[in-house]
Amino acid sequence: MRLAVPGDVVELCQRLRAAGFEAWLVGGAVRDLLRGKAAKDFDVATSADPAAVTKVFGRKRTIPTGEKHGTVTVLTERDGVRQPVEVTTYRGEGAYTDGRRPDEVVFVRTLDEDLKRRDFTMNAIAYDPLADTLADPYGGQADLAAGVIRAVGAPLERFREDGLRAMRAVRFAAQHEFAIDPATEQAIPDALDVFDKVSAERVRDELLKILCAPKPSIGLELMRTTGLLEHTIPELLEGVGMHQNRFHKHDVWHHTLAAVDASVVGGDPPWLVRFAALLHDVAKPRTAAPKEDSPAENTFYRHEQVGADMTDAIARRLKLSTEERETLVNLVGNHMFWYTPEWSDGTVRRFLSRVGVEHIDALFALRAGDVRARGQGEEPGSEIDELRARIANEIAKEAALKITDLAVGGADVMEVLACKPGPNIGEVLRALLERVLDDSSLNERDTLRALIPEVARRS
Ligand code: ATP
Ligand code: MG
Repeated sequence: MRLAVPGDVVELCQRLRAAGFEAWLVGGAVRDLLRGKAAKDFDVATSADPAAVTKVFGRKRTIPTGEKHGTVTVLTERDGVRQPVEVTTYRGEGAYTDGRRPDEVVFVRTLDEDLKRRDFTMNAIAYDPLADTLADPYGGQADLAAGVIRAVGAPLERFREDGLRAMRAVRFAAQHEFAIDPATEQAIPDALDVFDKVSAERVRDELLKILCAPKPSIGLELMRTTGLLEHTIPELLEGVGMHQNRFHKHDVWHHTLAAVDASVVGGDPPWLVRFAALLHDVAKPRTAAPKEDSPAENTFYRHEQVGADMTDAIARRLKLSTEERETLVNLVGNHMFWYTPEWSDGTVRRFLSRVGVEHIDALFALRAGDVRARGQGEEPGSEIDELRARIANEIAKEAALKITDLAVGGADVMEVLACKPGPNIGEVLRALLERVLDDSSLNERDTLRALIPEVARRS
């Protein structure tokens, strides 16, 4: 079966061949094409060393991405668009002493030796697009067909060389909805001390890929059972077996899994709502208290605020960007709103001001996933549509929602109060905003200036 390899990649292999080198397509592209899926990026393994690769394609078309690691990026053109193709010299596994990265890169002579260092059998298949032949020394095709993730070689050894591989196994299981071969899965708990040495950024990137899988719960549950969760977000384990109340079918952990699965992927960044769903109830166990009138049920008073603080700590640990962290904290902290038609326009504006116009869609998406995950066959109600319409109305009216929307600024406050810059200026402006949120008609320069002495006395 000829695999659908783009012409530019075939030509690239041809040119290496013509220069007397071997060239094979390897890694994720072969795996995905064999499953009939579109391949994302194309990696080529070759017997040519980086200098030879650069010579074959010329300096203009190559980028010395990681020459020390044997990788040269060759720029090709596909459908009129420039495409980077990574061309890597046959490489073996250098000695690892720290579980993070090999101490040195060792180049090897044969394709088989190169495939041997790859993590899983399905990632260790090579394809020659010129001869239309596959090299599959570890039975990757059989495992692909059976839906099994299996380490190349001895699992524990492989997981102890590079601690990230355990997380990659779980990530691939979620992405492809595959099972991990028992021997491979059972090796993970014994490699957790090496996993701990992996940089937070690499772990984070795998977690984000799990969150974008069709059913992240597959990966999250595997993280829990293998111990990876305890070494990543142990706070979530507190929800396992944590009973809720009549509104919920599941314990906190299983409700969380259902909420993540039921939440949308997409938006910017695509994993945002799912990450918020993962953490939205993280503080429920710490805030659980028996209901006064029904002690078998639990209440979780203020769990959204405690959860926002926990989210902040977790996001810092996982090295999310400041903006990503603040957005997650915002979503978790605001997920407990209860809209009723009695909300005044001022209440709608205060809600909008607190959440921020830019986060409203994500918050509603989180709510939709949360409601569906109660396990009672509920659907998000029409009240959310009504709130959405009222919010749209406020936005259309250009209602003031932030300090910078006010008709006065810090200079007005200082002039009216005859005072110098200081923290009280911000307090006065915030107090003015509160008034304006209640009554938009106050947002006129003269009106607000007249209000300044009064709000300053109170603040
Ligand atoms: P994706 O579709 O997510 O890109 P991929 O399989 O292409 O998946 P990459 O991280 O792009 O994964 O790596 C390309 C190939 O390099 C893998 O298929 C695998 O053969 C090898 N590889 C990557 N990371 C490791 C690792 N930590 N240990 C061993 N082999 C690895
Ligand atoms: Mg890849």
